[in-house]
Amino acid sequence: MARKGAARAVRLNCPKCFSAFTVVAYLSRGIAANDYWKARAEEHDCVSHEKMVAAVRSGDVTKNPLKASKAAARGKQ
Ligand SMILES: [Zn+2]
Repeated sequence: MARKGAARAVRLNCPKCFSAFTVVAYLSRGIAANDYWKARAEEHDCVSHEKMVAAVRSGDVTKNPLKASKAAARGKQ
């Protein structure tokens, strides 16, 4: 089995809502990386991102069970 490439995490800026976000992808050798990342940036789900940011700002982290349990553990100390 030949490996097609390593996972890359790249910080992108959405051209629509100007948010910075991270995309993780496996890039094959020979792919036009710049074009690929540009396309991924244009695929940004602005609405979901906005909701997520709003949830974080309002302190609503209960959707993340790991964070919620850590917060609970801290509260017991
Ligand atoms: Zn966006």
